[in-house]
Amino acid sequence: MRVAIVGSGFAGSLLARILAVQGHDVVLLERGTHPRFAIGESSTPLANLTLERLARRYGLDDCYDLAAHGRWIARFPELRRGLKRGFTFYRHHAGRRFANAGLGSERLLVAASPNDHVADNHWLRADVDHHFVRAAVQAGVEYRDRVEVTDDTLKALHVDFVVDASGPGGFLARELAIPSRLDRMHTHAGLLFSHFDGVRLMPDVVPGLPSGPYPDDWAAVHHIIEEGWLYSLRFDHGVTSAGFLLRDRVPGAPEEMWRHLLRRYPTIGALFGNAKPLFPLSYKPRIQHRLARAAGPGWAMLPHAFAFVDPLFSTGIAWSLRAIERLALSFENGGGCVPGERDLARYESQLSAEADQIDWLVAGAYHAMAHFDLFAAHAMIYFAAVSFAEVNQRIHATETAAWSGFLGVGDPRLGALPRASLRRLRHTRTREDRREFVRWVTRSIAPRNVCGFANPATHGLYPVDLDMLVQRHAVLGMSRESLVSALPALRA
Ligand SMILES: Cc1cc2nc3c(=O)[nH]c(=O)nc-3n(C[C@H](O)[C@H](O)[C@H](O)COP(=O)(O)OP(=O)(O)OC[C@H]3O[C@@H](n4cnc5c(N)ncnc54)[C@H](O)[C@@H]3O)c2cc1C
Repeated sequence: MRVAIVGSGFAGSLLARILAVQGHDVVLLERGTHPRFAIGESSTPLANLTLERLARRYGLDDCYDLAAHGRWIARFPELRRGLKRGFTFYRHHAGRRFANAGLGSERLLVAASPNDHVADNHWLRADVDHHFVRAAVQAGVEYRDRVEVTDDTLKALHVDFVVDASGPGGFLARELAIPSRLDRMHTHAGLLFSHFDGVRLMPDVVPGLPSGPYPDDWAAVHHIIEEGWLYSLRFDHGVTSAGFLLRDRVPGAPEEMWRHLLRRYPTIGALFGNAKPLFPLSYKPRIQHRLARAAGPGWAMLPHAFAFVDPLFSTGIAWSLRAIERLALSFENGGGCVPGERDLARYESQLSAEADQIDWLVAGAYHAMAHFDLFAAHAMIYFAAVSFAEVNQRIHATETAAWSGFLGVGDPRLGALPRASLRRLRHTRTREDRREFVRWVTRSIAPRNVCGFANPATHGLYPVDLDMLVQRHAVLGMSRESLVSALPALRA
């Protein structure tokens, strides 16, 4: 069977390779060329677990090595990446330096890994995507770049199935006139971004912060401000990817907007004041997109072609890899033919529910940003959902994880929380409302809270704590003894 994949980001290239490994005749079509600049860099434990499953099932040993920082460096030192030990958040206030209030600082650190060796990575996409394209070609994929793909191109190639991996390029949206459903989305933000040289470390700018579970900057760093937030992802070679997500446009050209925001937030100004953009700063007024369909007879979209919400909580890579895994299994079910109607319908309904889930979660977070206690509590819904999924996937390492819902979708305890939280946050006004919100989150995540989140005694500093996990064995439906014997799988 002949399959065309339109778009050769990591997602299109990896799926192309897997389908070639399955024995399909695959053509990968790219509008541009590699290496090329791309944003969307910060990976997560769930992303890496999927990479490892794909590696095992399809014999992709590079994917296994790219799933952990230590293995990546040992095997592919030339592919640039950054150590990511967790998620760091700070709340800044206009006109004031970030206040070091010791353990009472507006600071939240959630570790995603116990050490550097097994840690996640920020992917320098120019290198990583290029690697995936080369690996696809080696696996027998026919790769054509600088192609302006049209319906006629596909007809001439006699393809039986098309995968749209063109990201916001929206290839099939145009070809099939698929309507936008942006009106469904609650998140609304513009993006001001570049890559930078010379960004300073937080402890150099705000000395004396209490030590956290990992060094603050070796993480996906989120600086929350009144207008939205700034992401800052540090690569090992000293370059930092950074971008402001802004609810409303700040006046001026991108450079003026950047300077204005650095002046307004003195600590961010100190971090980025001497940093040099490696590409001209760019501004996109709205980065969200969402379509009415994600699959149909003879075609499917990868998540980034179907919908995008926001970089908050680094959902993009993990979601894309999960979708690759589902499509690959659907092709296997097809037994040499195109994926069946049932699999495609299931694929589409999962993606649609997950796009809503990400949107509710992120929109809620934007509401909560007004008060750090609210934000930190709302974020616990994300951390409870992903850590519960991660522990389950590590303990029961099977391919059934592919179809499990992303971010708690379909989970009777977690599924409804992001939407309920957004609703509550819209009506949370007083200090007492805020306290009640924190209590509500704590109660609501309890049935899935394997890592002890929402615990005031931690002061917002959460290490990977296996003792805590053992204590919470009942949440996983396991005896203490069976969880203890599963610990090696959890440490891996
Ligand atoms: C500001 C921002 C920050 C992000 N941060 C994170 C993060 O920290 N962590 C995370 O997990 N995710 C993040 N994401 C999401 C992440 O970028 C995506 O999940 C990821 O890029 C998806 O990869 P992809 O290969 O599907 O698509 P892309 O990377 O978008 O690749 C699409 C490819 O298709 C090609 N193309 C486009 N149109 C056509 C056409 N008509 N014909 C042929 N080729 C075409 C393009 O040239 C490109 O090579 C972020 C996204 C944004 C916008």
